Amino acid sequence: MVLEDGTELASPRVISTVHPRTTLLDLVGRQHLPSGLVEEMERYRSRSGSAKVNLALAELPNFRALPGVELGSQHPEFIINPSIDYLDRAWGDAVAGGWSQDPMMDCVIPTTKDRTLAPPGRHILTCFVQYAPYQLQGSSWAQEREKFADRVVEVLGEYAPNLPGAVLHRQVVTPLDMEREYGLLGGNIFQGEMSLDQLFLLRPAAAAGSYRTPVVGLYLGGAGTHPGGGVMGAPGRNAARVVLADLRRARWTAPLGRGLPVS
Ligand SMILES: Cc1cc2nc3c(=O)[nH]c(=O)nc-3n(C[C@H](O)[C@H](O)[C@H](O)COP(=O)(O)OP(=O)(O)OC[C@H]3O[C@@H](n4cnc5c(N)ncnc54)[C@H](O)[C@@H]3O)c2cc1C
Repeated sequence: MVLEDGTELASPRVISTVHPRTTLLDLVGRQHLPSGLVEEMERYRSRSGSAKVNLALAELPNFRALPGVELGSQHPEFIINPSIDYLDRAWGDAVAGGWSQDPMMDCVIPTTKDRTLAPPGRHILTCFVQYAPYQLQGSSWAQEREKFADRVVEVLGEYAPNLPGAVLHRQVVTPLDMEREYGLLGGNIFQGEMSLDQLFLLRPAAAAGSYRTPVVGLYLGGAGTHPGGGVMGAPGRNAARVVLADLRRARWTAPLGRGLPVS
């Protein structure tokens, strides 16, 4: 492996948690892989409908439904999704190729639990926003990102009127930013869609679905392997167990008198 600064790291075994398509098609290179695996990785779906808007706030939201800017049970976590029809409209906007004008939002204020994250009296509000397609019909995220964030803040203001005036700073993370900053192709937060045909032994591909790859010593161990994305570490643990099993097998099958293949 060669790092950006040119440092070379050699190892008989590598577990990659980088997006599986990047690992296989770009870092290994399609010319070194069976054509069936290349085709599977080209078909692997890694699209997105999510964005994040992170806000630094001068005070807590003062909700119409439960007023008060002193910390209360309404503050740590809340979801903006008043009805199924609302969600359906949000989805309809995305199907038509745009971001949801009335988005569904999953909001957390982590400073309600950890006061060290912001100066005294200030808060952080992080909004996970649906839907924000990676590809926008007739526009681009460069053109839309601030309008999108303005609308997010406006909608929050419908529920907590003090909120727009309390915003000190904001960070907008579009699906394109997730791809560029974190290597999440298509902006998919789970390194690939978590649909049935992309789980179990088929994640990320039938030809690389057991954490092993056709490249000897190269394993996959990130969210693009079973059981997929989430802050749980299960793909990495499973991959480590497969590496250990292969090591044990290598020891048992080492030819007599030639020592062990690995220490
Ligand atoms: C916005 C967002 C919200 C989420 N919300 C939740 C949630 O609420 N609950 C939940 O359980 N999960 C959530 N997830 C998913 C969860 O964070 C991931 O599934 C999990 O972190 C994946 O872990 P990983 O080790 O597989 O990959 P990562 O933590 O993504 O690690 C991969 C690493 O590889 C690096 N990398 C990428 N490309 C290259 C390259 N070419 N060369 C070298 N390094 C590279 C990346 O910088 C990164 O450090 C969310 C993810 C996102 C993006």
